[in-house]
Amino acid sequence: MRKKIVAGNWKMNQTLSEGKNLVEGILAGLPALNESKEVVICPPFVHLSQTAAQLDEYEHIYLGAQNCSSEASGAYTGEVSAQMLQSTGTHYVIIGHSERREYFNEDDALLARKVEQALATDMKVIFCCGESLEIRDSNAQNEWVGKQLKSALFHLGDLLMQRIVIAYEPIWAIGTGRTASAAQAQEMHAYIRHVIASQYNPVLADNMTILYGGSAKPSNAAELFACPDVDGGLIGGASLKAEDFLGIINAMMAS
Ligand code: PEP
Repeated sequence: MRKKIVAGNWKMNQTLSEGKNLVEGILAGLPALNESKEVVICPPFVHLSQTAAQLDEYEHIYLGAQNCSSEASGAYTGEVSAQMLQSTGTHYVIIGHSERREYFNEDDALLARKVEQALATDMKVIFCCGESLEIRDSNAQNEWVGKQLKSALFHLGDLLMQRIVIAYEPIWAIGTGRTASAAQAQEMHAYIRHVIASQYNPVLADNMTILYGGSAKPSNAAELFACPDVDGGLIGGASLKAEDFLGIINAMMAS
């Protein structure tokens, strides 16, 4: 069964006390979630234990991390392993965000190793893909995204692939206030599902959750989530205000 998910990516924002208040605000207004409609909160690493404790008694709202190491353990100063994340109560890890690809030079081979580390635990991966404006303008976005999926994911067998959530995030829409139109999002999501059906099988592709990310907000979430292949969103800026994040969650609930 395909799940709908709204995931909040706080990026490098919020002190511990600000994060605590934000989660309290979200929990205070949270609608009744269920097995097919989930929420994920992805704060910075230092928040994970605190946020895990806050979410402990709630169902269908999960903790996510924004990154994990490509190595299992050892002398890698400053890194955080997938196993450490899992030990805090983290269920999801974002891998391949365009900011990690661009500012930290994370390439497909490294991302493939990170995916393997995360899946070696019980966690699920929110794998980000998406094209730059230059690629969109040259109408090469499908080839680009197809290659990103192939390089980092398609070595996985069916069982592991079932623990992947894809987030399509056109780089030109992230943090820019410029959202992809519902038609552009639907077209790419349908393409991604088609590529996965060809590589794996139609049932696996049909069950896969594919999120949209890029300047999603309460005012445009309903239209995006109404698209048949858009199964929710990965939300940056609008996840930092409880009211906005709840507005997007409510749009998912109504979709
Ligand atoms: C993101 O960083 O994943 C994102 C979608 O950011 P924003 O919603 O701020 O565009």
